[in-house]
Amino acid sequence: MDNRDNIFSFEIDAVQGFFVPDEAVLYDLVIAGWGPAAVSAAIYAARKGLNTAIVTKFKGGQINDTPVVENYPGFKSIGGKELTLEFNVHARQYGLPLLTGEAVTKIEKNNDIFYTSTENQRILKSRTVIYATGKRNRRLNVPGEEKFIGKGVVFCAICDAPLYKDKKVIIAGGNNSAFTVATDLVKIAKNIVIINIVRGWTADSYLQNSLKKYNNVEMLDYHRIESITGNNDFKGIKVRNLETSGLYDIDADGLFVEIGLIPNSDAVAGLVALNDNKEIITDRDCETSLPGLFAAGDVTDVTYKQVVIAAGEGAKAALSADNYLKFISNKGE
Ligand SMILES: Cc1cc2nc3c(=O)[nH]c(=O)nc-3n(C[C@H](O)[C@H](O)[C@H](O)COP(=O)(O)OP(=O)(O)OC[C@H]3O[C@@H](n4cnc5c(N)ncnc54)[C@H](O)[C@@H]3O)c2cc1C
Repeated sequence: MDNRDNIFSFEIDAVQGFFVPDEAVLYDLVIAGWGPAAVSAAIYAARKGLNTAIVTKFKGGQINDTPVVENYPGFKSIGGKELTLEFNVHARQYGLPLLTGEAVTKIEKNNDIFYTSTENQRILKSRTVIYATGKRNRRLNVPGEEKFIGKGVVFCAICDAPLYKDKKVIIAGGNNSAFTVATDLVKIAKNIVIINIVRGWTADSYLQNSLKKYNNVEMLDYHRIESITGNNDFKGIKVRNLETSGLYDIDADGLFVEIGLIPNSDAVAGLVALNDNKEIITDRDCETSLPGLFAAGDVTDVTYKQVVIAAGEGAKAALSADNYLKFISNKGE
């Protein structure tokens, strides 16, 4: 039976075809992450017969928080959560060991064996690794942000937007993510203020145009959020007009932070070459600077960051890992 009801529940993974990896086993491949790149890599690896284990912080990637995806072939329009569910339904048929709820904290290589450590001190052994850990939200790093996360400072619009019905909200950012959030919130919230630190807006023009018909949207470019205000409860922000240097308060009920993403490459920093944006440098076959360690998707320096591209890169990484393993096993023959 294709039971999709609790596909995100860890407890029922076992009955759905996933089970916990075995630390005693030397796997052909360990995959870090479970977004589109990792899922695709897992499907290709399973079909190549590689003994594969997966370790991921969350079961699903950035699209989990995306209201709708309209550019993934085969689905004219599908919710991000629904697409993640389709990926899980597809992948689980291979019965792969998958460890969820644990981030990879470190990867080491000794005598051609990779040791992948997790935040709960587990260590998985493998002959190759595919690192596909994507990106996470960039923070403002201003006073008060940490204190009010989840209590007025919001990073997941799809999760929290409904809480701001008829309220005043601020959106930090000027990119597609910020405007996507704005186009959702404009129909729910009473007022929206969009604040960008640089001059102008980088969101696609169709997104910018979609806001023009609303009169409850204020747009402030070249303004910098200096701090979050409020003692016990979130009150709003202090913002500086970078043109005039004037500092003033904007009171609001919530602040949605949409100022970009940073790669989750910390666990391999120092092990493989990263670019200035901390993305893993890969060649066209998803090879990194360390033989046997492949990387795919948004955590890499691949030019465009999209679901279809991450899935394609994941497939390439798995095929490259398979080739590498063939080369290793033929060595010395
Ligand atoms: C708001 C928004 C809207 C978007 N809309 C679209 C769209 O409409 N169409 C489109 O094609 N693309 C869209 N994208 C981009 C798309 O979501 C990404 O390109 C894609 O998800 C990248 O896939 P990935 O597998 O590389 O990484 P991710 O999706 O980021 O997945 C990374 C995975 O790694 C896990 N992980 C992270 N750190 C660790 C760690 N240390 N150890 C183990 N696991 C870890 C995470 O839990 C997650 O499972 C959107 C992105 C955002 C933010």
